[in-house]
Amino acid sequence: MRLSRSFLPTLKENPAEAQIVSHRLMLRAGLIRQTASGIYAWLPAGLKVLRNISQIVREEQDRVDAQEVLMPTLQSADLWRRSGRYDAYGPEMLRIQDRHKRELLYGPTNEEMVTDLFGQTVKSYKDLPQVLYHIQWKFRDEMRPRFGVMRGREFLMKDAYSFDVDYASAVATYRRMMLAYLRTFQRLGVRAVPMRADTGPIGGELSHEFLILAPTGESGVFYDAALEDQDWLDEPVDTNSAEALEAFFNRVTTPYAATDEMHDVTAWDGVPDDRKREGRGVEVGHIFYFGTKYTQAMDVSVSGADGAQFYPEMGSYGIGVSRLAGAIIEACHDENGIIWPDSVAPFRAAILNLKSGDAVCDAVCEQIYAKAPEAFLYDDRAERAGVKFADADLMGHPWQIVVGPRSAKEGRVELKRRATGERQELSVDEALALVLAG
Ligand code: ATP
Ligand code: MG
Repeated sequence: MRLSRSFLPTLKENPAEAQIVSHRLMLRAGLIRQTASGIYAWLPAGLKVLRNISQIVREEQDRVDAQEVLMPTLQSADLWRRSGRYDAYGPEMLRIQDRHKRELLYGPTNEEMVTDLFGQTVKSYKDLPQVLYHIQWKFRDEMRPRFGVMRGREFLMKDAYSFDVDYASAVATYRRMMLAYLRTFQRLGVRAVPMRADTGPIGGELSHEFLILAPTGESGVFYDAALEDQDWLDEPVDTNSAEALEAFFNRVTTPYAATDEMHDVTAWDGVPDDRKREGRGVEVGHIFYFGTKYTQAMDVSVSGADGAQFYPEMGSYGIGVSRLAGAIIEACHDENGIIWPDSVAPFRAAILNLKSGDAVCDAVCEQIYAKAPEAFLYDDRAERAGVKFADADLMGHPWQIVVGPRSAKEGRVELKRRATGERQELSVDEALALVLAG
């Protein structure tokens, strides 16, 4: 993309309405604009971020055999009456009437719809397990929308739903999903710690929230530093083996980790002092086993091996895709702006033409840009070098390819790594090889 012609409205000043750094930076870097309270438009660079996050989420869901569908945002009230949640859900649910006075709602979540969809299709235990997911907008009329996309009213979520024959099989599905989540966050360039969450009336220990550490997080967190080592996630796990899944699960759930809501002081005392980590975190995912709650309430059964009908065991698994855009920035920034992880960045590099209009500089920049126009943001504006440097730092491209008149004559450029500030002078080809690698 050429910056001179792009819809990428950066702001020099901090917007007064933004209280936390990710919200400020998302507005300043031209990623989003608010259109109504808690509702945002995603501009071209922001949309690339959202798509990059979605794609990683999708690949890791597919890798554990979840199947993507796309369910609608609008749902009928009758569907929710079948589970008894239509009245129970409360004012967070946006209720709508169509021209025939039929009651609809803008989905805050999809348990009812997916259970109904499953029930229409699957009739036998032989077709289990099934895991369905979609990446779809949700609406929750939050009492206090705040922090930009971190707590919006309309937001993008990946939500998956599993159906299993029995508890043991549901546990294996849950553990596979836990693995998929940790791999997802690792690929997104952030460390998310799984923490025991409240299972409510279901009981048991199969509910975890995933939190990214950030001082502006809404939850207080306490965890054992042993959980910071996640490099071993690169090792293969045999997801068809119940024992391999159990070993994996124990490894990530045995060390202490809890939000303030679930904090157990006695267990915390048992963590060695030098491994105690205390801070704040942003919830980016939540996985939950809830047994036959919905299949039973909605009377969705399948036939078992013995011919008798039974209610499949379910779980649901959410990731806040749009919240992640903000949460990643909370974890990855400095005083000059965003520092995008390579996997999420809207552009791999900015090409900074320090003398637009100079024949040699223009030619070198065009030569680089032509190699991968979708990967580069070419700053071809007639602006001062200082402005270009500041904007590139603000927007957080992993690399900056700096083309100045003196070195350009020799076919050389300066390559800056945003995360470390490290600079090196290289030939055009060497710079391209580094930037476009991996
Ligand atoms: P919270 O406690 O933050 O309100 P929740 O428990 O209501 O979250 P879930 O119903 O588990 O959230 O939804 C799954 C994920 O969707 C959450 O982990 C979070 O990342 C994201 N999410 C939930 N509410 C919002 C929101 N208002 N704006 C953006 N993302 C959200
Ligand atoms: Mg909520």
